Amino acid sequence: MKYDLWEPKRRIELEYQRALNQMLKKIQRYVDYVGEPQEVANIFRKVANSAEFNRYAEETANRMVTHLFTDAGRTWRTAARENSQGRMIYETLRRELQGPVGGAVIHQIQRNAEIIKSVPLTIARDMTDYIAQETVNGRRSESILADLLEIVPDISLNKAKLIARTEVGKTSTALTRARSENLGLDWYIWRTSKDSRVRDSHDLMEGVMVSWRDPPSPELLNAEKNAPKPYHPGEIYNCRCYPEPVVTLDLVQWPRKVYRNGAITVMTRAQFQSIAA
Ligand SMILES: [Zn+2]
Repeated sequence: MKYDLWEPKRRIELEYQRALNQMLKKIQRYVDYVGEPQEVANIFRKVANSAEFNRYAEETANRMVTHLFTDAGRTWRTAARENSQGRMIYETLRRELQGPVGGAVIHQIQRNAEIIKSVPLTIARDMTDYIAQETVNGRRSESILADLLEIVPDISLNKAKLIARTEVGKTSTALTRARSENLGLDWYIWRTSKDSRVRDSHDLMEGVMVSWRDPPSPELLNAEKNAPKPYHPGEIYNCRCYPEPVVTLDLVQWPRKVYRNGAITVMTRAQFQSIAA
């Protein structure tokens, strides 16, 4: 199977980032006419509570999740073609929206919409803190306002980038997981984006077979302090790793690294089958 077949498309992340940034730019247009720093924060608050903005947040989340879901659906059908159980997989995929997979899609749309809705409020809160702190420092309100007008576009762009990168990964993993479980597939291979920004701890996970029921803590495996609790690829901020579902053991190369009970061990197919049974 083509190596990066399961990787969420970068195009979807960029589209999401652009939509989020456009939304924040639209708010910034009102900011040009204010006279007091606190008014800038108030504008972000007002927009966050408007019906139009909430509708936009829902539409944007819906578009991203649907796009990821459709795109991965093609990948699943490709995988089904290469598999002896292809017919069963194909039939299950055809009916999947009526079952738990459909529920996962709706849940991901709602989760993303809530994140988008929270952005202007978070920015407003940060601004209010900044204004209070600079006022205590004795700065004049005109210069605080000038600061805000200068940094708002950067803050917005960075927020859009972080959300797009983190949430596309999380959403994609959640959908892959829901589809895997619906098909009774317990295992996946951890894949990294293979670029220079991959964390050392995630580099360690490249090519390792993992069970959906037993997520690893890559940081702990890498002997790092303050390891977050265990998670699957794409489930932590700024992570572009992704799960490649193991649809059939015939297409897996053996021996292979397997994560189990807090350790990575190399196993033959027979050894793996004895623990996976
Ligand atoms: Zn990663």
